[in-house]
Amino acid sequence: MPSLPPPGSMATDEGGTAAPPPASPNRWVLYVDLDAYYVSCELRDRPDLVGRPVIVGPPPSDGPSRGVVLSASYEARTFGVRSALPAGAAARMCPDAVWIRPDFEKYERISRDVRTLLREFSDDVVPFSIDEASVAIEASDASAARAVAERIQRALKDRLSLPASIGVATRRVVAKIATDQAKPGGILVVPPEEVVSFVAPLSVRVVPGVGPKTEELLKRHGVSTLGDLAGQRASEVRRWLGEFGVELVALARGRPAEESEPSGGPRSRSTDHTFALDVERWEELEPTVRSLAEELANALAREELRYGAVGVAFRWADFSRTQRLRALPAAREGSAPLSERAVRLAHELWEAERAGRRRPVRTVSVRVERLTERTQRQVSLDEFEPRSNRSRGAM
Ligand SMILES: [Mg+2]
Repeated sequence: MPSLPPPGSMATDEGGTAAPPPASPNRWVLYVDLDAYYVSCELRDRPDLVGRPVIVGPPPSDGPSRGVVLSASYEARTFGVRSALPAGAAARMCPDAVWIRPDFEKYERISRDVRTLLREFSDDVVPFSIDEASVAIEASDASAARAVAERIQRALKDRLSLPASIGVATRRVVAKIATDQAKPGGILVVPPEEVVSFVAPLSVRVVPGVGPKTEELLKRHGVSTLGDLAGQRASEVRRWLGEFGVELVALARGRPAEESEPSGGPRSRSTDHTFALDVERWEELEPTVRSLAEELANALAREELRYGAVGVAFRWADFSRTQRLRALPAAREGSAPLSERAVRLAHELWEAERAGRRRPVRTVSVRVERLTERTQRQVSLDEFEPRSNRSRGAM
C-alpha cells in the first residue's frame, strides 16, 4: 500500500475554503443496525426456533415462485443463504430451513418501538431504514461513547429481544462502515485518529453509495481499497466521479465531518414506508409519497436545512429496487416543492413500471440530498426555476 499523507496535510488540491470551526469536539455517532432483522422479529414469537436455520420469505411449499429470501438467520447463512437469493435456490442450499412468511406490519411496529427506545438516548435519532438508525450523542471520549453503545445494545436485547451491531465514530459514514464490520452482534469504535488505518484495507464498496459501477470505474484507475484512494489527488478523482469522488478521498484520508460536511450534518436524508400489503394502485401510493415528503420536509425545517435534490425509490414485491433522483435548479425549503417533486418522480417510476412488468410496490422511500444550511441571506434571483421547465411540467 502506498504511504498515506497525514490527515490535514492534503488541502492543496481541494480548493481554498477555510474549514469552519468544529461543530462539537465531543459529538459521536452511533450507527445501530439490527441483525437479521426480520428473522429476529419472528424469533421473538418463536423462541423454539432460536439456533436453527430460519428464512423469512415465500415458503417453497407455496410452489415455484419468483420470490426471494428477505432475511436469513446466521445459521441459514452458513449454508450460503442470503437476502435477495431466489427462494428456490435457498431451499436447495438449506433444505432443513424453517420458512416464515413475512409480516411487514409486525416489522414496522417493532421498528417504531426501536426508534422510541433509541430516542431515550438522544434527541438526534435519524432512521435510515426499517432496521438502521444513527444516534448522535455527546461523549467525552471514545470509551464513554462505547459505554453508551453498550447500553443501547443491552436495552435492545433485554427489552425488545433484538440483537444489534453498533459502529461508533465521529462521522456517520465511518460509523456505518464500522457497523458492517462489527456484524453480527458487535460494537466497533473508530476514533477520529484511527479512521485512516481502519478504512485503508477496506474495499471502496463498503462506502454507502459506491455500487458495482463505481467500483469498476475506480478499478480501471487502479483503485480497489480506500487506502488506494487516499493516495490519489482529489482533483483527479473529481474528474472520474465528480464531487462524490472528492468526498470519497476525504473519507479515505480521515478528514473530519466538519470539513467535508459544511452543514455540520448529513448530506442526505431519507424516510420510507413499507406497506402491510403490496400496493398495486397509484391512488394508494400517492398519499404515502406525499406524507413521507412532508415528514422529511418537517425534519429538515427543524434543522434549518435546505435540499438541492429529491429522490424516490420503490422496493418492488420481488425485492428489487428502482430509484430516481433529480437535482433542483437551486436549493429549496418547505414541504410543497419537496412533495410536488417526490410525487412527480414516483409517478414517473410507476408509469415506467406499468409499461413493463407491473410489479406491486412493497416499500416506497423519499430522499433529499445536497443539504445546505438555511441562511439569513436574501434569496437570490437564481432561486427561481426556469420558466420553460415549469410550463413543461417537468424538471
Ligand atoms: Mg440489519
